[in-house]
Amino acid sequence: MAKEVSPGVLALRKVVEDVYADARKAHAEGRLVGWSSSKFPCELAAAFDLDVMYPENQAAGIAANRDGEIMCKAAEDLGFDNDICGYARISLAYAAGKRASRKVDFETGEYVINPNSGKPLKDENGKVVIDPETGKPKKDPKTMQPYTVLDDIYEIEALPEGREKELRKAAIKPYRQMQMPQPDFVLCCNNICNCMTKWYENIARMRNIPLIMIDIPYNNTVDVHDTNVAYVRAQFDHAIHQLEELTGKKFDEKKFEEACANANRTAQAWLRVCDYLQYKPAPYSGFDLFNHMADVVTARGRVAAAEAFELLEKDLAEAVKVGKTTTPFPEQYRVMFEGIPCWPKLPNLFKPLKEHGVNVTAVVYAPAFGFVYNNMDEMVRAYYKAPNSVCIEQGVAWREGICRDNKVDGVLVHYNRSCKPWSGYMAEMQRRFTEDLGVPCAGFDGDQADPRNFNEAQYETRVQGLVEAMEANKAAKEG
Ligand code: SF4
Repeated sequence: MAKEVSPGVLALRKVVEDVYADARKAHAEGRLVGWSSSKFPCELAAAFDLDVMYPENQAAGIAANRDGEIMCKAAEDLGFDNDICGYARISLAYAAGKRASRKVDFETGEYVINPNSGKPLKDENGKVVIDPETGKPKKDPKTMQPYTVLDDIYEIEALPEGREKELRKAAIKPYRQMQMPQPDFVLCCNNICNCMTKWYENIARMRNIPLIMIDIPYNNTVDVHDTNVAYVRAQFDHAIHQLEELTGKKFDEKKFEEACANANRTAQAWLRVCDYLQYKPAPYSGFDLFNHMADVVTARGRVAAAEAFELLEKDLAEAVKVGKTTTPFPEQYRVMFEGIPCWPKLPNLFKPLKEHGVNVTAVVYAPAFGFVYNNMDEMVRAYYKAPNSVCIEQGVAWREGICRDNKVDGVLVHYNRSCKPWSGYMAEMQRRFTEDLGVPCAGFDGDQADPRNFNEAQYETRVQGLVEAMEANKAAKEG
């Protein structure tokens, strides 16, 4: 039976589709399209009516579509180190023109199907059909996919007009993240990490396009001092000036205020949606929140995003009222999932959690996008508070608050090889969670985009260990 999708989720899906479609249209019509880091103040570009795309969201989508590895390897072949963040490698390969494509047989014009792909064929009773010759499950031909190969849009462009050119163009994978237009300018804010700075500098150099940079350094104190605010506000003014030069338009104050109002409305609705994880049992899982992050990253300045999150809020209120949940198992344990998920391995992450009745009822990554402010200075302060730019005291307090509010029994920490600034202080945080909250923690090694860095057996063992510790903790409390 098809999974029921709520009106809010449908609206959110449309918002992201529209963001990508608008950018493709702008590019086709010769208008400027920018690429932006996820926590660059989108409100500035909105004042100029610019179409902006978000490589982090794109890279997550490429990884979830199982093309992270081929794109990461393509970046490595271009000379970028394997130790660089997977999002950066995917994006740099994409900026260089590399694309994941379907293998074509140029004689027949057909795609070459990979016999190992596809889901097992099931009979009318839902049982897996076994091939009598091999003794292995037969593949459902409808789910089999062509081999994935790497192609290059600049090589394709240089080909003479004809059949090969047409076939290669058409073979580039059709999903939206693999069809994103190339950038005419880049917007970078390093409030997340400094890898971002080098990543965007490289794109700007590679494509010979302007880079508009806002430097928000790591903050050693809980408060954001007035001098820091002044430093960033001056950069906002400079960025506005650069955007005026780029577009040949004047800064439109009204559009800016509209975008700020939308961004605040989106952020507030998003935070309220995140708070629904506090219900016990929760009406959904942190994995659902991860799926909606595309909206808050790519469209928070759009009124459609605010409206879609408000609709989702209504769906969740109704779900709580009637006791419905999207989690397909009874919630026995509640955990916080720390870090960015392994996008290429979402089903593998979910499987052992499901087996042990563990629901992810707290995540750190999602509410980090709830920028709420009332004026320009507060806006600067809001953009200062990204997960990797706050000091450890604030990071611990932030997470422990979520753990308490969302009533977790344990914490599952993703030591993400891509995101070193995030993973680096997690060992100390784990220690503090156990000491302050009395909950067990388990860590596993993985990667947000490069599947070569995830080991399923290790992950399963760590989940099992966490469950045993949560069980013992529960028994001790009850005893
Ligand atoms: S914050 Fe982490 S995941 Fe994001 S770009 Fe930086 S290193 Fe990559």
